[in-house]
Amino acid sequence: MLTGGEKDTEMKTIRFLNSLITTSSGSSMRILLLIFFATLPASHAEAFQAKILPSNIHQGDAFIIRVTGPDTAEPSALFEKKALHFSKCGKGCFVAIGAVDIKARPGVYLISLNTGQQKTKLQLRVLKSSFKTTHLTLPEEKVTFTPKDLVRINREDDLLDSIWQIESERLWDGSFILPLPNPFSTPFGAKRIINKKTVSLHRGLDMQGKAGEKIQASNRGRVVLTEELFFGGNTLILDHGQGIFTVYMHMSGFNVQPGNIVSKGDVIGFVGSTGRSSGPHLHFGVKVMRVNANPVSIAGLKL
Ligand SMILES: [Zn+2]
Repeated sequence: MLTGGEKDTEMKTIRFLNSLITTSSGSSMRILLLIFFATLPASHAEAFQAKILPSNIHQGDAFIIRVTGPDTAEPSALFEKKALHFSKCGKGCFVAIGAVDIKARPGVYLISLNTGQQKTKLQLRVLKSSFKTTHLTLPEEKVTFTPKDLVRINREDDLLDSIWQIESERLWDGSFILPLPNPFSTPFGAKRIINKKTVSLHRGLDMQGKAGEKIQASNRGRVVLTEELFFGGNTLILDHGQGIFTVYMHMSGFNVQPGNIVSKGDVIGFVGSTGRSSGPHLHFGVKVMRVNANPVSIAGLKL
């Protein structure tokens, strides 16, 4: 709402602006317009700032949108037709986590942001990733499926799909960490040629690990699955809220139960080689609103 005085001032400045447009031209008008906007009263100034971080985002990467401003109401935003979840990151600060699909077309994406009184469009520039091709040899029974295997695989796919639909309250607290302090064996996005024929896209990060090594929770979350799956072997899923999940596969055993709330760094299980695996390691996956995100990118977000 404008007060009477403000309304008068505004009408005068609009008339002043119109006279500038009709009487000035070229650089002199641009300079006058700059002065005009720089001297607007505080109520007309940009009430909030919105940033996408990091500034360089590749296919498969997670990102954050940080909105700051003294009087900013909780923002809303759509990315790829899905509503992003904003939550507080301090006084006058809101943050949302998103992710770009590994197969997203490189280029510029527009994100419509609304803070109640103000709307803006943010540009998200997605760069092409260079994913490596790796070769892997596995026992034939692990790559050729019997009709019984296929029934099990489909049932487990349905179970996982139902988990990815959950968008619960935020439980994550600060930045995500990697669950082991070890080097990586197969990066996210690697194209895998298994037994010289099957090609698959690696939608997680393989980390080296010794059998029995302790695996830490990437962030605070609720245990929503501890089951032995056909591909993943002993698989644990943490729900961090807001449609964000971390997935831990091929474990030798679990240290927690479904329903438990764990803190970042808690030991949730142990490295193993169960399921479709050629040796002890951890397959670590991240889901953000049903998109498989690069775990390295989510661990790099400053939350
Ligand atoms: Zn893997």
